[in-house]
Amino acid sequence: MKMKRRDFLSKTAMAGAATLLSSPALFSGSFRPKDKLGIALVGLGYYSTDLLAPALQLTEKAYLAGIVTGTPSKAETWKKKYNIPEKNIYNYQNFDQIANNPDIDVVYVVLPPSMHREYVVRAAKAGKHVFCEKPMAPSVADCEAMIKACNDNKVKLAIGYRCQHDPNIQAYMNVAKQQKFGKVKMVTSAAGYFDGRTNHWKQSKALGGGVMGDMGVYALQGARLATGEEPISVFAQASTTRPEIYKEVEETMMFMLEFPSGARASCQTSFGINMNYLQVNYEKGWLKMEPQSGYNGNKGSMSDGTIINFAIKNQQAKQMDEDCAALMAGTALIAPGEEGLRDIRVVEAIYKSVKTGKVVKI
Ligand code: NAD
Repeated sequence: MKMKRRDFLSKTAMAGAATLLSSPALFSGSFRPKDKLGIALVGLGYYSTDLLAPALQLTEKAYLAGIVTGTPSKAETWKKKYNIPEKNIYNYQNFDQIANNPDIDVVYVVLPPSMHREYVVRAAKAGKHVFCEKPMAPSVADCEAMIKACNDNKVKLAIGYRCQHDPNIQAYMNVAKQQKFGKVKMVTSAAGYFDGRTNHWKQSKALGGGVMGDMGVYALQGARLATGEEPISVFAQASTTRPEIYKEVEETMMFMLEFPSGARASCQTSFGINMNYLQVNYEKGWLKMEPQSGYNGNKGSMSDGTIINFAIKNQQAKQMDEDCAALMAGTALIAPGEEGLRDIRVVEAIYKSVKTGKVVKI
């Protein structure tokens, strides 16, 4: 890949440059604007390898500038495949030196959830903007520490909620906002897949596994985004059909949410069942999405015959482009750290409900 970076300050870029100059982290020591931000991926597992790195070949505002990995053989492969200069390759020990690298504007944390806090905080201290994968972290305390670290170091934090950048998801969010069919009465939201792995971090409590933080946030977001409200109480039940694999964390979670308007949601998430759909019943109509949180092809229909089926080239590319454009313009991010925290607040209440067997107020 040939990296394109313009080293000039065009007349038309002057207005944007003024905004850029107010954000020193974007320059990291090299005082010139860039037409693309350099992203360093931390953790080169499935999501980085199969989705983010390919998406970064399509982005217009971002490019793959660096990597952080604990596996030297991966560093070699990626270096060759993506033409990454040696000086932009880090391991987990020397990662903090990224502070001195003007090529890297954004650190994208794509590690198991229990590691998100440490790497977000280290990236923020290095003066880099941060993208962090979902779930933001295993606890509310972690999320708050991550937001604080970014605020203290004057860098921005975005959560990798790719669906919130998808016009198909934005379409059903707008139905609630505009009250097209009146108030939301009931939501049914499901997100799950069959995971055949037997020894992965998704099955480890210490690494932040369990289906609730993983596919569960999609089921939860379906309910939160379809109502446009934050839940005020939850009742949840955890279960597993494969106790030999799911020894420490739940394989399946069912949870019921109550919203301030009186709307209710029934949500399911599982590592044992392939399912991905959303149904919203309003006072005067309904909306269905299936799938509701896929990488592509999210689509739906409404009771008045409206079809939701926007084509997008690449969801992850759109997410990173929009987040980088917001960083460059100094405008609001679509899914900042506070949005990740909103989900984890509910996730904590869900676990509390499972433990106590009671309805938990949020
Ligand atoms: P993965 O297991 O495939 O990759 C994890 C990476 O972390 C690996 O490169 C691994 O070497 C590294 N790692 C470093 N220390 C580790 C440790 N102690 N234990 C295990 N791995 C360690 O996982 P993934 O599916 O790529 O998920 C990574 C993150 O991305 C998670 O937060 C996950 O929820 C998120 N994710 C998001 C989406 C999405 O659609 N937004 C999809 C998949 C994964």
